[in-house]
Amino acid sequence: MKKIAVFGDIHANLEALQAVLADAEQEGCGSTMACLGDIVGYNANPAECLARVRELGCPTVKGNHDYEAISTRDLLGMNPVATMALSWTREQLSEEDKEWLKRLPYVRENIAELNNITIVHATMDRPMRWEYILNASDSSFSFQKQATQLCFHGHTHVPRFFIKNADGKITQSNEPEIVMEPGKMYFVNPGSVGQPRDGDWRASYAVYTPEWNHIAIRRVEYDIAETQRKIREAGLPERLAERLAAGR
Ligand code: ZN
Repeated sequence: MKKIAVFGDIHANLEALQAVLADAEQEGCGSTMACLGDIVGYNANPAECLARVRELGCPTVKGNHDYEAISTRDLLGMNPVATMALSWTREQLSEEDKEWLKRLPYVRENIAELNNITIVHATMDRPMRWEYILNASDSSFSFQKQATQLCFHGHTHVPRFFIKNADGKITQSNEPEIVMEPGKMYFVNPGSVGQPRDGDWRASYAVYTPEWNHIAIRRVEYDIAETQRKIREAGLPERLAERLAAGR
């Protein structure tokens, strides 16, 4: 049976990425995957994570940290910790890495090989503005631009299902799984691989099984001590190591 792994917000956390890919393999996802962007930023293995995602060759969209990592302008509007991590990240990536990131699209709509799902990092209505969908009402403009029944997004690092009913009413669900119903639309955040912010430190991603209309959020343990060690060794802010353990 076809299963599709959807993951994003890896943020240079190689241990978490490897754990998620191993779990997806065990789940039977094979090479049917999609990546929601923010491959780099925050943690200590940007080049390694980028190489791994490139190797997968799956549909991938650009995140705001990917965008900032290839920009040469000053980092404005980001918090100081993210800014420090990004200027460090810029030094770790080769010109070829940056070229690859640069070519990533902001949106991939109606992906034929992935049962016509759509993927975007932040929102469908203004994908380059990097807006945060924190509740059902935030998602209404994005739903207006969503042409497929199912669209995945990332950016908040919090796993969540937003559901638009036939009458236009939007609800949200924090359940770990969902069965999609005809006539409804779904805007789904699978959470973050490399820096979860819902209070659970474990890596988060989604497995979509089209035949069952089923989407499950999976949580995967990884070697967090090793990731923290690398953050400290690289001289990145201590706060980045601490927040991983807190899942914030
Ligand atoms: Zn992110």
